Amino acid sequence: MQIEEVSSTERAQRIAVHTHVRGLGLDESGRALSTATSGLVGQAAAREAAGIVVELTRGKKMAGRALLLAGAPGTGKTAMALAVAQELGPKVPFCPMVGSEVYSSEVKKTEILMENFRRAIGLRIKESKEVYEGEIVSLKPEEQEDPLGGYSKSVSHVHVTLKTTKGSKTLKLDPSIYDSLVKEKCRPGDVIYIEATTGAVKRVGRSDSFAAEFDLEAEEYVPVPKGDVHKKKDIVQDVTLHDLDIANAKPQGGQDLMSVMGSLVKPKKTEITEKLRREINKVVNRYIDTGVAELVPGVLFIDEVHMLDIECFTYLNRALESSLSPIVIFATNRGICTIRGTDVLAPHGIPVDLLDRMLVIRTMPYSLEETAQIIAIRAQTESIRLHEEALAVLAEIGSKTSLRFAVQLLTPARILAGRQGREDIIAEDVREIEDLFFDAKASAKVLAAEASHFLS
Ligand code: ATP
Repeated sequence: MQIEEVSSTERAQRIAVHTHVRGLGLDESGRALSTATSGLVGQAAAREAAGIVVELTRGKKMAGRALLLAGAPGTGKTAMALAVAQELGPKVPFCPMVGSEVYSSEVKKTEILMENFRRAIGLRIKESKEVYEGEIVSLKPEEQEDPLGGYSKSVSHVHVTLKTTKGSKTLKLDPSIYDSLVKEKCRPGDVIYIEATTGAVKRVGRSDSFAAEFDLEAEEYVPVPKGDVHKKKDIVQDVTLHDLDIANAKPQGGQDLMSVMGSLVKPKKTEITEKLRREINKVVNRYIDTGVAELVPGVLFIDEVHMLDIECFTYLNRALESSLSPIVIFATNRGICTIRGTDVLAPHGIPVDLLDRMLVIRTMPYSLEETAQIIAIRAQTESIRLHEEALAVLAEIGSKTSLRFAVQLLTPARILAGRQGREDIIAEDVREIEDLFFDAKASAKVLAAEASHFLS
Protein backbone atom coordinates (compact mmCIF):
# COMPACT_ATOMS: atom_id res chain seq x y z
CA MET A 1 0.00 0.00 0.00
CA GLN A 2 1.27 3.41 -0.85
CA ILE A 3 1.12 6.04 1.85
CA GLU A 4 0.71 9.56 0.60
CA GLU A 5 1.18 12.77 2.44
CA VAL A 6 -2.07 14.60 3.06
CA SER A 7 -1.49 18.30 2.73
CA SER A 8 -3.17 20.57 5.21
CA THR A 9 -6.13 22.67 4.12
CA GLU A 10 -5.84 24.97 7.10
CA ARG A 11 -4.29 27.84 5.19
CA ALA A 12 -6.80 27.61 2.35
CA GLN A 13 -9.65 27.67 4.85
CA ARG A 14 -8.25 30.76 6.50
CA ILE A 15 -8.47 32.60 3.23
CA ALA A 16 -11.78 31.01 2.22
CA VAL A 17 -13.87 33.41 4.33
CA HIS A 18 -12.33 36.35 2.50
CA THR A 19 -12.91 35.22 -1.08
CA HIS A 20 -15.15 38.24 -1.73
CA VAL A 21 -12.18 40.59 -1.20
CA ARG A 22 -10.53 41.56 -4.48
CA GLY A 23 -8.62 44.71 -3.62
CA LEU A 24 -8.65 47.93 -1.61
CA GLY A 25 -11.32 49.59 -3.79
CA LEU A 26 -9.58 52.94 -4.33
CA ASP A 27 -10.04 55.39 -7.18
CA GLU A 28 -7.18 56.80 -9.26
CA SER A 29 -6.39 59.47 -6.71
CA GLY A 30 -6.23 56.90 -3.93
CA ARG A 31 -9.61 57.74 -2.36
CA ALA A 32 -11.77 54.90 -1.04
CA LEU A 33 -14.75 54.17 -3.29
CA SER A 34 -18.00 53.94 -1.40
CA THR A 35 -19.39 51.20 -3.63
CA ALA A 36 -18.13 47.80 -2.57
CA THR A 37 -16.88 46.77 -6.03
CA SER A 38 -13.64 45.43 -4.54
CA GLY A 39 -15.52 43.56 -1.84
CA LEU A 40 -14.36 45.86 0.96
CA VAL A 41 -16.90 47.91 2.92
CA GLY A 42 -16.22 50.97 5.10
CA GLN A 43 -12.78 51.48 6.73
CA ALA A 44 -12.18 54.33 4.28
CA ALA A 45 -9.22 55.86 6.14
CA ALA A 46 -7.53 52.50 6.70
CA ARG A 47 -7.99 51.54 3.04
CA GLU A 48 -6.55 54.84 1.84
CA ALA A 49 -3.55 54.45 4.16
CA ALA A 50 -3.07 50.87 2.95
CA GLY A 51 -3.14 52.25 -0.61
CA ILE A 52 -0.13 54.41 0.24
CA VAL A 53 1.70 51.36 1.57
CA VAL A 54 1.00 49.64 -1.75
CA GLU A 55 2.53 52.65 -3.53
CA LEU A 56 5.58 52.56 -1.23
CA THR A 57 5.99 48.86 -1.91
CA ARG A 58 5.74 49.34 -5.66
CA GLY A 59 8.38 52.06 -5.40
CA LYS A 60 10.55 49.64 -3.38
CA LYS A 61 10.42 52.01 -0.41
CA MET A 62 9.06 49.53 2.13
CA ALA A 63 12.34 47.58 2.49
CA GLY A 64 13.18 47.12 6.15
CA ARG A 65 9.76 48.42 7.18
CA ALA A 66 6.49 46.78 8.10
CA LEU A 67 2.82 47.61 8.52
CA LEU A 68 0.86 47.23 11.75
CA LEU A 69 -2.93 47.05 11.67
CA ALA A 70 -4.32 47.95 15.08
CA GLY A 71 -7.99 47.45 15.85
CA ALA A 72 -10.59 45.37 17.64
CA PRO A 73 -11.15 41.75 16.60
CA GLY A 74 -13.35 41.43 13.55
CA THR A 75 -12.61 44.85 12.14
CA GLY A 76 -11.31 43.37 8.91
CA LYS A 77 -7.55 43.29 9.53
CA THR A 78 -7.07 40.03 7.67
CA ALA A 79 -9.34 41.20 4.89
CA MET A 80 -7.29 44.39 4.57
CA ALA A 81 -3.95 42.53 4.45
CA LEU A 82 -5.30 40.25 1.73
CA ALA A 83 -6.49 43.30 -0.23
CA VAL A 84 -2.96 44.75 -0.07
CA ALA A 85 -1.57 41.54 -1.59
CA GLN A 86 -4.18 41.68 -4.34
CA GLU A 87 -3.37 45.31 -5.13
CA LEU A 88 0.26 44.34 -5.61
CA GLY A 89 -0.73 42.23 -8.60
CA PRO A 90 -2.12 38.91 -9.69
CA LYS A 91 -0.60 35.78 -8.16
CA VAL A 92 1.16 37.71 -5.41
CA PRO A 93 1.49 35.25 -2.52
CA PHE A 94 -0.48 35.91 0.66
CA CYS A 95 0.52 33.95 3.74
CA PRO A 96 -1.59 34.42 6.86
CA MET A 97 -0.39 33.15 10.25
CA VAL A 98 -1.13 33.70 13.92
CA GLY A 99 1.62 34.66 16.38
CA SER A 100 0.96 31.64 18.59
CA GLU A 101 1.77 29.29 15.69
CA VAL A 102 5.46 29.64 16.40
CA TYR A 103 5.10 27.57 19.57
CA SER A 104 5.42 23.99 18.57
CA SER A 105 7.12 21.24 20.49
CA GLU A 106 8.98 19.97 17.44
CA VAL A 107 10.13 22.93 15.45
CA LYS A 108 12.12 25.98 16.46
CA LYS A 109 10.20 29.29 16.58
CA THR A 110 12.48 31.01 14.12
CA GLU A 111 12.21 28.04 11.77
CA ILE A 112 8.43 28.47 11.64
CA LEU A 113 8.82 32.18 10.96
CA MET A 114 11.37 31.47 8.24
CA GLU A 115 9.06 28.93 6.61
CA ASN A 116 6.23 31.46 6.52
CA PHE A 117 8.54 34.13 5.13
CA ARG A 118 9.36 31.77 2.28
CA ARG A 119 5.70 31.01 1.69
CA ALA A 120 5.20 34.74 1.14
CA ILE A 121 7.94 35.16 -1.47
CA GLY A 122 6.98 34.25 -4.98
CA LEU A 123 9.10 33.49 -7.98
CA ARG A 124 7.73 33.90 -11.48
CA ILE A 125 9.68 31.70 -13.81
CA LYS A 126 9.61 32.23 -17.51
CA GLU A 127 10.76 29.02 -19.06
CA SER A 128 11.09 28.32 -22.71
CA LYS A 129 10.62 24.82 -23.94
CA GLU A 130 12.31 23.68 -27.11
CA VAL A 131 12.20 20.39 -28.92
CA TYR A 132 14.89 19.38 -31.42
CA GLU A 133 14.98 16.52 -33.87
CA GLY A 134 18.07 15.18 -35.55
CA GLU A 135 20.37 12.32 -36.35
CA ILE A 136 22.90 11.34 -33.69
CA VAL A 137 26.43 12.14 -34.85
CA SER A 138 28.18 11.30 -31.64
CA LEU A 139 27.66 10.51 -27.97
CA LYS A 140 30.59 11.55 -25.79
CA PRO A 141 30.60 10.85 -22.08
CA GLU A 142 32.45 13.29 -19.85
CA GLU A 143 34.10 11.64 -16.91
CA GLN A 144 34.78 12.99 -13.48
CA GLU A 145 36.99 11.77 -10.66
CA ASP A 146 35.22 9.66 -8.09
CA PRO A 147 33.85 12.22 -5.63
CA LEU A 148 34.68 9.79 -2.81
CA GLY A 149 38.34 9.75 -3.80
CA GLY A 150 38.42 6.21 -5.22
CA TYR A 151 40.21 5.18 -8.40
CA SER A 152 37.16 4.67 -10.53
CA LYS A 153 35.75 7.49 -12.59
CA SER A 154 32.09 8.25 -13.03
CA VAL A 155 30.21 9.86 -15.89
CA SER A 156 29.12 13.41 -15.06
CA HIS A 157 27.54 14.25 -18.42
CA VAL A 158 27.11 12.95 -21.92
CA HIS A 159 27.43 15.31 -24.87
CA VAL A 160 25.15 14.41 -27.73
CA THR A 161 25.71 15.97 -31.12
CA LEU A 162 22.80 15.97 -33.57
CA LYS A 163 22.99 16.58 -37.29
CA THR A 164 20.32 19.03 -38.27
CA THR A 165 19.51 20.82 -41.49
CA LYS A 166 20.79 23.99 -39.84
CA GLY A 167 24.13 22.51 -38.89
CA SER A 168 25.01 20.52 -35.85
CA LYS A 169 23.70 20.99 -32.36
CA THR A 170 25.42 19.71 -29.24
CA LEU A 171 23.50 19.31 -26.02
CA LYS A 172 24.58 18.13 -22.58
CA LEU A 173 22.66 15.19 -21.11
CA ASP A 174 22.50 14.19 -17.47
CA PRO A 175 23.47 10.53 -16.95
CA SER A 176 19.91 9.78 -15.85
CA ILE A 177 18.55 11.18 -19.10
CA TYR A 178 21.21 9.41 -21.11
CA ASP A 179 19.93 6.17 -19.59
CA SER A 180 16.73 6.42 -21.62
CA LEU A 181 18.77 6.53 -24.84
CA VAL A 182 20.70 3.47 -23.70
CA LYS A 183 17.46 1.70 -22.89
CA GLU A 184 16.21 2.32 -26.41
CA LYS A 185 19.55 1.23 -27.86
CA CYS A 186 20.06 4.53 -29.70
CA ARG A 187 23.31 4.78 -31.64
CA PRO A 188 24.91 7.25 -34.02
CA GLY A 189 22.79 7.36 -37.15
CA ASP A 190 19.49 7.02 -35.28
CA VAL A 191 17.06 9.90 -35.30
CA ILE A 192 16.03 11.22 -31.91
CA TYR A 193 14.14 14.04 -30.30
CA ILE A 194 15.45 16.15 -27.45
CA GLU A 195 13.31 18.34 -25.27
CA ALA A 196 15.05 21.12 -23.37
CA THR A 197 13.54 23.50 -20.85
CA THR A 198 15.40 26.76 -20.31
CA GLY A 199 18.51 25.21 -21.77
CA ALA A 200 18.49 22.06 -19.64
CA VAL A 201 17.68 18.80 -21.42
CA LYS A 202 14.66 17.22 -19.83
CA ARG A 203 13.76 14.30 -22.05
CA VAL A 204 15.06 12.37 -25.01
CA GLY A 205 13.56 9.66 -27.12
CA ARG A 206 13.52 7.92 -30.44
CA SER A 207 11.78 9.78 -33.22
CA ASP A 208 9.34 7.01 -34.04
CA SER A 209 8.01 6.82 -30.48
CA PHE A 210 8.06 10.58 -30.04
CA ALA A 211 4.35 11.37 -29.82
CA ALA A 212 3.67 8.70 -27.22
CA GLU A 213 6.76 9.39 -25.21
CA PHE A 214 6.27 13.11 -24.95
CA ASP A 215 2.54 12.86 -24.16
CA LEU A 216 1.75 15.01 -27.14
CA GLU A 217 -1.81 15.42 -28.29
CA ALA A 218 -2.25 14.14 -31.83
CA GLU A 219 -2.64 17.60 -33.37
CA GLU A 220 0.45 18.86 -31.62
CA TYR A 221 2.55 16.32 -33.42
CA VAL A 222 3.40 18.01 -36.65
CA PRO A 223 6.41 16.39 -38.30
CA VAL A 224 8.91 19.03 -39.33
CA PRO A 225 11.95 18.95 -41.54
CA LYS A 226 14.70 17.18 -39.71
CA GLY A 227 16.80 19.46 -37.57
CA ASP A 228 14.38 22.31 -37.22
CA VAL A 229 13.26 23.33 -33.81
CA HIS A 230 10.12 21.30 -33.65
CA LYS A 231 8.31 23.37 -31.09
CA LYS A 232 9.06 26.37 -28.97
CA LYS A 233 6.80 27.39 -26.19
CA ASP A 234 7.11 29.90 -23.36
CA ILE A 235 5.72 28.77 -20.05
CA VAL A 236 5.21 30.98 -17.01
CA GLN A 237 5.14 29.28 -13.66
CA ASP A 238 4.46 30.87 -10.27
CA VAL A 239 5.93 29.21 -7.21
CA THR A 240 6.97 30.31 -3.75
CA LEU A 241 10.39 29.79 -2.22
CA HIS A 242 8.71 27.40 0.19
CA ASP A 243 7.42 25.32 -2.75
CA LEU A 244 11.00 25.03 -3.96
CA ASP A 245 12.22 24.06 -0.49
CA ILE A 246 9.62 21.31 -0.28
CA ALA A 247 10.19 20.07 -3.82
CA ASN A 248 13.91 19.79 -3.27
CA ALA A 249 13.65 18.26 0.17
CA LYS A 250 11.82 15.29 -1.29
CA PRO A 251 13.21 12.74 -3.72
CA GLN A 252 12.93 14.06 -7.24
CA GLY A 253 10.49 13.43 -10.03
CA GLY A 254 8.09 16.33 -9.89
CA GLN A 255 7.04 19.11 -12.17
CA ASP A 256 9.24 20.70 -14.73
CA LEU A 257 10.85 23.48 -12.81
CA MET A 258 11.10 21.46 -9.65
CA SER A 259 13.19 18.85 -11.36
CA VAL A 260 15.41 21.46 -13.01
CA MET A 261 16.03 22.96 -9.61
CA GLY A 262 16.43 19.47 -8.26
CA SER A 263 19.15 18.60 -10.69
CA LEU A 264 21.05 21.71 -9.69
CA VAL A 265 20.51 21.40 -5.98
CA LYS A 266 21.40 17.84 -5.17
CA PRO A 267 18.33 15.63 -4.74
CA LYS A 268 17.26 13.03 -2.18
CA LYS A 269 17.24 15.24 0.85
CA THR A 270 14.55 14.47 3.33
CA GLU A 271 14.24 17.67 5.29
CA ILE A 272 14.55 21.38 4.70
CA THR A 273 17.89 22.36 6.11
CA GLU A 274 19.53 25.74 6.24
CA LYS A 275 22.07 24.50 3.74
CA LEU A 276 19.35 23.43 1.31
CA ARG A 277 17.74 26.86 1.60
CA ARG A 278 21.07 28.55 0.96
CA GLU A 279 21.59 26.41 -2.14
CA ILE A 280 18.10 27.24 -3.35
CA ASN A 281 18.69 30.95 -2.78
CA LYS A 282 21.85 30.67 -4.83
CA VAL A 283 20.01 29.05 -7.73
CA VAL A 284 17.13 31.52 -7.40
CA ASN A 285 19.55 34.45 -7.51
CA ARG A 286 21.18 33.00 -10.59
CA TYR A 287 17.76 32.61 -12.22
CA ILE A 288 16.99 36.24 -11.37
CA ASP A 289 20.35 37.52 -12.63
CA THR A 290 19.97 35.71 -15.94
CA GLY A 291 16.43 37.02 -16.35
CA VAL A 292 14.85 33.55 -16.25
CA ALA A 293 12.94 34.39 -13.08
CA GLU A 294 11.51 37.41 -11.42
CA LEU A 295 11.01 37.86 -7.69
CA VAL A 296 7.42 38.49 -6.57
CA PRO A 297 7.48 39.61 -2.93
CA GLY A 298 4.12 38.84 -1.36
CA VAL A 299 2.47 39.59 1.94
CA LEU A 300 3.16 37.81 5.21
CA PHE A 301 0.32 38.52 7.63
CA ILE A 302 1.06 37.88 11.31
CA ASP A 303 -2.07 38.18 13.44
CA GLU A 304 -1.91 38.54 17.23
CA VAL A 305 1.61 39.84 17.10
CA HIS A 306 1.75 40.14 20.91
CA MET A 307 1.97 36.33 21.04
CA LEU A 308 5.48 36.47 19.55
CA ASP A 309 8.40 36.62 21.99
CA ILE A 310 11.64 38.54 22.09
CA GLU A 311 13.51 35.83 20.18
CA CYS A 312 11.01 36.08 17.33
CA PHE A 313 11.21 39.87 17.30
CA THR A 314 15.00 39.75 17.09
CA TYR A 315 14.69 37.38 14.14
CA LEU A 316 12.07 39.59 12.46
CA ASN A 317 14.25 42.67 12.78
CA ARG A 318 16.92 40.88 10.80
CA ALA A 319 14.58 39.20 8.33
CA LEU A 320 12.99 42.51 7.33
CA GLU A 321 16.39 43.72 6.17
CA SER A 322 16.92 40.80 3.80
CA SER A 323 16.75 41.36 0.07
CA LEU A 324 14.48 38.31 -0.08
CA SER A 325 11.76 39.74 2.16
CA PRO A 326 8.01 39.94 1.66
CA ILE A 327 5.89 42.82 2.95
CA VAL A 328 5.15 41.98 6.56
CA ILE A 329 1.78 43.09 7.95
CA PHE A 330 1.28 42.64 11.67
CA ALA A 331 -2.07 42.83 13.41
CA THR A 332 -2.92 43.50 17.02
CA ASN A 333 -5.90 44.20 19.22
CA ARG A 334 -3.82 44.87 22.35
CA GLY A 335 -2.76 48.16 23.87
CA ILE A 336 0.20 48.27 26.21
CA CYS A 337 1.32 44.81 27.30
CA THR A 338 4.50 42.96 28.21
CA ILE A 339 6.83 41.76 25.49
CA ARG A 340 6.77 37.99 25.80
CA GLY A 341 9.99 36.57 27.16
CA THR A 342 10.77 39.80 29.03
CA ASP A 343 9.07 41.84 31.73
CA VAL A 344 9.19 44.99 29.65
CA LEU A 345 5.94 46.80 28.89
CA ALA A 346 5.58 48.13 25.37
CA PRO A 347 2.82 49.28 23.02
CA HIS A 348 1.15 46.16 21.53
CA GLY A 349 3.82 44.00 23.21
CA ILE A 350 6.28 44.89 20.42
CA PRO A 351 9.87 46.00 21.15
CA VAL A 352 10.46 49.67 20.40
CA ASP A 353 13.19 49.04 17.82
CA LEU A 354 10.75 47.00 15.74
CA LEU A 355 7.89 49.43 16.38
CA ASP A 356 10.08 52.18 14.97
CA ARG A 357 10.08 50.43 11.62
CA MET A 358 6.30 50.17 11.47
CA LEU A 359 3.64 52.24 9.86
CA VAL A 360 0.50 51.90 11.96
CA ILE A 361 -3.03 51.87 10.56
CA ARG A 362 -6.12 51.74 12.75
CA THR A 363 -9.20 49.75 11.81
CA MET A 364 -12.50 51.00 13.20
CA PRO A 365 -15.60 49.12 14.41
CA TYR A 366 -18.38 48.81 11.84
CA SER A 367 -21.70 50.57 11.90
CA LEU A 368 -24.86 48.47 11.79
CA GLU A 369 -25.30 49.38 8.14
CA GLU A 370 -21.74 48.35 7.23
CA THR A 371 -22.15 45.08 9.14
CA ALA A 372 -25.30 44.34 7.14
CA GLN A 373 -23.53 45.19 3.90
CA ILE A 374 -20.62 42.81 4.67
CA ILE A 375 -22.99 39.97 5.63
CA ALA A 376 -24.94 40.54 2.42
CA ILE A 377 -21.73 40.32 0.35
CA ARG A 378 -20.71 37.11 2.13
CA ALA A 379 -24.16 35.60 1.56
CA GLN A 380 -23.96 36.46 -2.12
CA THR A 381 -20.46 34.98 -2.41
CA GLU A 382 -21.61 31.74 -0.81
CA SER A 383 -24.80 31.76 -2.97
CA ILE A 384 -26.96 31.94 0.13
CA ARG A 385 -30.35 33.61 -0.32
CA LEU A 386 -31.31 35.82 2.56
CA HIS A 387 -34.56 37.72 3.24
CA GLU A 388 -34.15 41.38 4.05
CA GLU A 389 -35.50 40.85 7.53
CA ALA A 390 -33.14 37.95 8.14
CA LEU A 391 -30.24 40.18 7.10
CA ALA A 392 -31.36 42.83 9.59
CA VAL A 393 -31.44 40.25 12.40
CA LEU A 394 -27.99 38.96 11.44
CA ALA A 395 -26.57 42.50 11.35
CA GLU A 396 -28.00 43.09 14.79
CA ILE A 397 -26.34 39.91 16.06
CA GLY A 398 -23.11 41.00 14.37
CA SER A 399 -22.97 44.33 16.11
CA LYS A 400 -23.94 42.76 19.44
CA THR A 401 -21.38 39.94 19.27
CA SER A 402 -18.93 39.99 16.38
CA LEU A 403 -19.03 40.26 12.63
CA ARG A 404 -17.28 36.94 12.35
CA PHE A 405 -19.89 35.22 14.47
CA ALA A 406 -22.71 36.63 12.36
CA VAL A 407 -20.99 35.57 9.12
CA GLN A 408 -20.48 32.09 10.55
CA LEU A 409 -24.20 31.73 11.24
CA LEU A 410 -25.00 31.95 7.53
CA THR A 411 -24.32 28.31 6.68
CA PRO A 412 -26.09 26.77 9.70
CA ALA A 413 -29.08 29.05 8.98
CA ARG A 414 -29.15 27.82 5.41
CA ILE A 415 -29.12 24.21 6.60
CA LEU A 416 -32.02 24.96 8.93
CA ALA A 417 -34.00 26.61 6.12
CA GLY A 418 -33.25 23.65 3.86
CA ARG A 419 -34.61 21.21 6.42
CA GLN A 420 -37.87 23.04 6.18
CA GLY A 421 -37.88 22.85 2.44
CA ARG A 422 -36.93 26.48 1.88
CA GLU A 423 -34.14 27.94 -0.25
CA ASP A 424 -34.24 31.36 1.37
CA ILE A 425 -33.23 32.13 4.93
CA ILE A 426 -35.96 33.96 6.83
CA ALA A 427 -35.64 35.93 10.09
CA GLU A 428 -37.07 33.02 12.03
CA ASP A 429 -34.18 30.73 10.92
CA VAL A 430 -31.62 33.22 12.13
CA ARG A 431 -33.32 33.58 15.52
CA GLU A 432 -33.53 29.84 15.93
CA ILE A 433 -29.86 29.39 15.04
CA GLU A 434 -28.90 32.14 17.44
CA ASP A 435 -30.70 30.25 20.20
CA LEU A 436 -28.88 27.04 19.29
CA PHE A 437 -25.36 28.44 19.28
CA PHE A 438 -23.47 30.62 21.65
CA ASP A 439 -21.07 33.32 20.72
CA ALA A 440 -17.82 33.40 22.71
CA LYS A 441 -18.88 36.16 25.08
CA ALA A 442 -22.20 34.54 25.90
CA SER A 443 -20.68 31.12 26.51
CA ALA A 444 -18.03 32.61 28.80
CA LYS A 445 -20.76 34.39 30.75
CA VAL A 446 -22.70 31.15 31.23
CA LEU A 447 -19.58 29.35 32.41
CA ALA A 448 -18.77 32.13 34.86
CA ALA A 449 -22.29 32.16 36.27
CA GLU A 450 -22.31 28.40 36.75
CA ALA A 451 -18.68 28.07 37.73
CA SER A 452 -19.45 26.06 40.83
CA HIS A 453 -20.76 23.20 38.66
CA PHE A 454 -17.48 22.79 36.80
CA LEU A 455 -14.22 21.24 37.81
CA SER A 456 -11.67 23.90 38.44
P1 ATP B 1 -9.70 40.68 12.20
O1 ATP B 1 -8.47 40.17 11.54
O2 ATP B 1 -9.68 42.15 12.50
O3 ATP B 1 -10.18 39.85 13.34
P2 ATP B 1 -10.94 39.63 9.90
O4 ATP B 1 -10.53 40.27 8.66
O5 ATP B 1 -10.41 38.30 10.25
O6 ATP B 1 -10.82 40.61 11.14
P3 ATP B 1 -13.45 38.67 10.45
O7 ATP B 1 -13.79 39.08 11.81
O8 ATP B 1 -13.07 37.27 10.18
O9 ATP B 1 -12.44 39.65 9.81
O10 ATP B 1 -14.57 39.11 9.48
C1 ATP B 1 -15.63 38.29 9.17
C2 ATP B 1 -15.91 38.36 7.71
O11 ATP B 1 -16.13 39.71 7.33
C3 ATP B 1 -14.80 37.87 6.83
O12 ATP B 1 -15.40 37.16 5.80
C4 ATP B 1 -14.16 39.14 6.31
O13 ATP B 1 -13.61 38.94 5.01
C5 ATP B 1 -15.31 40.08 6.25
N1 ATP B 1 -14.91 41.48 6.40
C6 ATP B 1 -14.32 42.05 7.45
N2 ATP B 1 -14.14 43.35 7.21
C7 ATP B 1 -14.62 43.60 5.98
C8 ATP B 1 -14.74 44.78 5.17
N3 ATP B 1 -14.31 45.95 5.58
N4 ATP B 1 -15.33 44.67 3.97
C9 ATP B 1 -15.78 43.48 3.56
N5 ATP B 1 -15.69 42.36 4.25
C10 ATP B 1 -15.12 42.40 5.46
